[in-house]
Amino acid sequence: MEEVRRKNPGENEFHQAVQEVVESLSPFVQKNPKYEKAKVLERIVEPERIIIFRVPWLDDKGEVQVNRGYRIEMNSALGPYKGGLRFHPSVNLGILKFLAFEQVFKNSLTTLPMGGGKGGSDFDPKEKTDNEVMKFCQSFMSELFRHIGPNTDVPAGDIGVGAREIGFLFGQYKRLRNEFTGVLTGKGLNWGGSLIRPEATGYGCVYFAQEMLRTKGDSIKGKTCLVSGSGNVAQHTVQKVSQLGGKAVTLSDSSGMIHDPSGIDDKKLAYVMELKNVKRGRIKEYADKYRCEYYEGKRPWSIKCDVAFPSATQNEISKDDAKKLVDNGVICVAEGANMPTELDGVRLFLDAKILYGPAKAANAGGVAVSGLEMTQNSLRLSWTREEVDTKLQSIVRSIHESCVRYGKEDGFTNYVKGANVAGFVKLADSMIDQGLV
Ligand code: NDP
Repeated sequence: MEEVRRKNPGENEFHQAVQEVVESLSPFVQKNPKYEKAKVLERIVEPERIIIFRVPWLDDKGEVQVNRGYRIEMNSALGPYKGGLRFHPSVNLGILKFLAFEQVFKNSLTTLPMGGGKGGSDFDPKEKTDNEVMKFCQSFMSELFRHIGPNTDVPAGDIGVGAREIGFLFGQYKRLRNEFTGVLTGKGLNWGGSLIRPEATGYGCVYFAQEMLRTKGDSIKGKTCLVSGSGNVAQHTVQKVSQLGGKAVTLSDSSGMIHDPSGIDDKKLAYVMELKNVKRGRIKEYADKYRCEYYEGKRPWSIKCDVAFPSATQNEISKDDAKKLVDNGVICVAEGANMPTELDGVRLFLDAKILYGPAKAANAGGVAVSGLEMTQNSLRLSWTREEVDTKLQSIVRSIHESCVRYGKEDGFTNYVKGANVAGFVKLADSMIDQGLV
């Protein structure tokens, strides 16, 4: 860890992600000296390649704007680099390295042949016109295209990158390469996308929570659930919770949160989807429409619940928030967002022995269906909704089984350890097989 901090100064999120993995892997690596001898831990914290580039574009007023673009190609031992693009003003090297590092483990857990990567830009799509977003995406891809490809690196969406952005990025890639290939996932259904991909992260996260609850003979049915965020992951989490008989009572955005004790049903969710995906409005408008409470600048964690689904961003659950959740009787936390819980909060959940599903296991459904989109593109066919959903459920079950196999600790499953060790073993063995690369 000292070496990681020295070599990557100021990259706090990256240090945090590595620390969590190292804490749970150390005893395992010490028991298996072949990994120590091959210096696998030292190798996996060093990205295979980092690309940083200038993204100049013209706004609607004709003024030149300049953003910074990134792609972290973290590890290709298990397949082409795979992981999303994030467009958000907070994006920097440390945040993308933490996301890429997590992605490598997550992709390993999915059982599909995918390496790990992540990228993005400090561009803020909020309050930009469609034309400006298109100009930016075209400029971004005008550099990125030379580094990616269906057998090399396959980006997808993340915060600020949804169907609209993937469309503009794909169009520009196709134009520059003169090739129609599965170089991005999360594509539109008419042009190579997979059914269930938009839903996959949220659905997968709720399926994972259901698997965890099943180990206690319990289920989502009848549970009061807190969901944060109101984007892609949050929306489909709410949808699946309600399909499985649970009740989601909160949503949020970076301005505040709404609390609707009567539950966010399908009709209200359709309103949220229109508000967020089409009108690009604020969650406060939900409270005005459905006459429920809106809390400016607040997050949902002080509300009493059975299950929590953090689905907005990193470090959105502090140690105090974690304590509030536990004190209020939470039985299960399944992370839709990446690293939403601070390290002290993670330790608190583990000490309380609640069912705690860390992001790299709980939200792997998204990238798993991206992997299925790549398979369908290679086969040049598309599977039905039921086929993809069945495969998603079976992958989530298998991730859960791996976590239980490696995370059992006298009568309790430590899913953090389980996910880290299971992800690591496959990756480390493959790296050793492939020699010193
Ligand atoms: P979206 O851009 O669709 O939605 C993000 C949501 O989180 C918005 O409601 C946004 O509010 C809120 N948010 C973003 N940043 C902050 C912040 N700093 N503070 C408070 N709220 C914030 O993104 P996704 O739903 O795709 O992603 C959400 C999380 O899930 C991320 O952590 C992402 O890495 C993770 N994830 C996503 C996957 C996917 O398939 N999309 C796959 C696996 C993980 P506002 O509109 O105000 O910014």
